Amino acid sequence: MAEPIKELYILWTSEGLSCDGDTVSVTAAMQPTIEEVVLGIIPGLPKIKLFNKVLAYENADEFMAPFWKAKAGTLDAPFVLVVEGSIPNENVKHGGFWTGMASDPVTKQPIPINTWLDWLAPKAVAVIAVGTCATYGGIHGMAGNPTGAMGVADYLGWDFKSAAGLPIINIPGCPVHPDNFMETLTWLLRQVAGLNPIIPLDQELRPTWLFGKTIHEGCDRAGYYEQADFAENYNSPKCQVKVGCWGPVVNCNVTKRGWMNGIGGCPNVGGICIGCTMPGFPDRFMPFMDEPPGATVSATMLQPYGALIRRLRSMTNDTVNHEPKWRHNGPALTTGYNPHYPDALPVFAQLTGGNSHD
Ligand code: SF4
Ligand code: SF4
Repeated sequence: MAEPIKELYILWTSEGLSCDGDTVSVTAAMQPTIEEVVLGIIPGLPKIKLFNKVLAYENADEFMAPFWKAKAGTLDAPFVLVVEGSIPNENVKHGGFWTGMASDPVTKQPIPINTWLDWLAPKAVAVIAVGTCATYGGIHGMAGNPTGAMGVADYLGWDFKSAAGLPIINIPGCPVHPDNFMETLTWLLRQVAGLNPIIPLDQELRPTWLFGKTIHEGCDRAGYYEQADFAENYNSPKCQVKVGCWGPVVNCNVTKRGWMNGIGGCPNVGGICIGCTMPGFPDRFMPFMDEPPGATVSATMLQPYGALIRRLRSMTNDTVNHEPKWRHNGPALTTGYNPHYPDALPVFAQLTGGNSHD
């Protein structure tokens, strides 16, 4: 990117196989809010023009205009393409189309989302896949689905590069965590403005600082896990691994971040982690609410250690819950104080009215 970008379109399509849940989720973002970015309140960011059908106030033609201009290469500023929803395989249908956006002006036929990706992705400054459907296929990509649904990288290729030479940026979650999306977008906007280095991504194209740790590592209930103190049902504050939590092996940060404005975060508030940010979601985590296979082994191995540690900690906890016995209002000092300067004692006794140590 030679010159910093001063103005930028965000063209956001949720016309993949989607429920629009990621857009709805992002409206709850706080760090920063979508309003702060769009209204230009954050210093240094390019001026943003956002086109998202759920948030749009334009009519259909006005809304589609920048998409058509982006296809024609006549948009007056560069654009970031945000894709929400999984991409169907249009090669496997017997007729019609799986999902599309707008109609062909000549044939009046709907234009598959795949065609829009073919047109726009290579011209975009960056392509962001938002939510687990767009990143890896998600629920639409489950075993047995008829659409051949896949993620954006499965469709465009995992080595795809945007017009600015950037890989696809995957921000998974079902739905995406609002602040995870806005924080990544802000990083990218600062990057194209020449203020940030290139976003660090892992091999699944996720921002490393957001997905580098497991849910378990940040969980409010991890202390219970370590002591092998497991919930028997969902009405418990204890570790939920035996009632279906996959947190120990899932890359996600919501236990540390909370969900909205720091509050919530699945296991923190009683929801088992079902691995919704993961490329293997949902099939590799089903059936939900059963004890995960690895958890049986680790929980069993923890039992003797956990029982011993709980007992020892209970004893120590009892000790530290009592004040030392020398704190009293008796006639003598019983702290065991040992003066290193006995010559100073008479002076001290004078000052304290004769109340020296024994
Ligand atoms: S509830 Fe889940 S994430 Fe939390 S400590 Fe237990 S296994 Fe780990
Ligand atoms: S804790 Fe688990 S279920 Fe909740 S958002 Fe993270 S990956 Fe999804």
